[in-house]
Amino acid sequence: MVRARPQERPVALVTGGGTGLGKAIALGLADDGYDLAIASRSAEHLATGARDLRSRGAQVLEVPTDVRLPEQVERLVASVREEYGRLDVLVNNAAGNFVAHSETLSPNGWRAVVGIVLDGTFYCSRYAFPLLRERPSSSIVNIVASYAWMAGPGTAHSAAAKAGVVALTRALAVEWAPYGIRLNAVAPGPVRTDGTDARLWTSASIREAVARTVPLGRFGAPEEVASAVRFLVSPAAAYITGEVLAVDGGQWLGRGVMPLLDDLDREPSA
Ligand code: NAP
Repeated sequence: MVRARPQERPVALVTGGGTGLGKAIALGLADDGYDLAIASRSAEHLATGARDLRSRGAQVLEVPTDVRLPEQVERLVASVREEYGRLDVLVNNAAGNFVAHSETLSPNGWRAVVGIVLDGTFYCSRYAFPLLRERPSSSIVNIVASYAWMAGPGTAHSAAAKAGVVALTRALAVEWAPYGIRLNAVAPGPVRTDGTDARLWTSASIREAVARTVPLGRFGAPEEVASAVRFLVSPAAAYITGEVLAVDGGQWLGRGVMPLLDDLDREPSA
């Protein structure tokens, strides 16, 4: 039975919504009037995210879920139906990225990343479809990364998984357009979160080097990624589907050029 809510508010499901960018996206959607469902493996992560979301006035459903497991994803969507009776937005944000040499990457490491990112995005989309199609307009935003199309050492597993998600975004955008479901992707540039600080940008010197690869010269803020998601799910983006929006300070366009420029004498020679 669907619980009565004081008013009919739209509902968004954000995977990985208890931490990092997922939490910032969920908070942004709460500010836009959405009630939330957040899903990831750790009940502790979900509880932290839910506390902050409730302080913004949103109703929150926490569903411990491993998106690699279709039966858990099916149960997640059933919980959303039971709690809210509707779903307007799905954000496939969960990921488990790390940098690794491909020649020594274990099959388990490969399967973990492809399982969370590509399988998880497909399972969540596929099981959410019946709820999404019940809305007159609804949308899915997949969080990808520009290494999906730029080659980079140590990212083969993540790049292959994210490139698969870009292809999935475009394929489903066409297939589900007749149901009024739009699909888009957001490709963040470097954004500091607890996860990336622990796994990727572990020192000030690494962070400085990364910032130098960004034409705008800095890391992005989680709220800047959330802004793009909020736009893509809004009526302002009603005619946009199958797109990939980079929110990266120009990093992928200018890759490698900024450090090179720093080494040049910028004064024109006489
Ligand atoms: P993060 O803090 O490490 O978040 C990853 C989230 O995914 C966590 O909430 C984690 O929660 C969840 N998760 C991991 N495995 C899962 C599983 N099997 N099932 C369900 N949930 C799972 O990372 P982030 O930096 O915020 O990144 C968020 C998204 O942005 C990712 O898609 C990432 O690839 C993308 N991105 C980030 C950056 C950046 O610079 N931060 C750049 C480009 C792209 P649990 O541990 O509770 O499961």
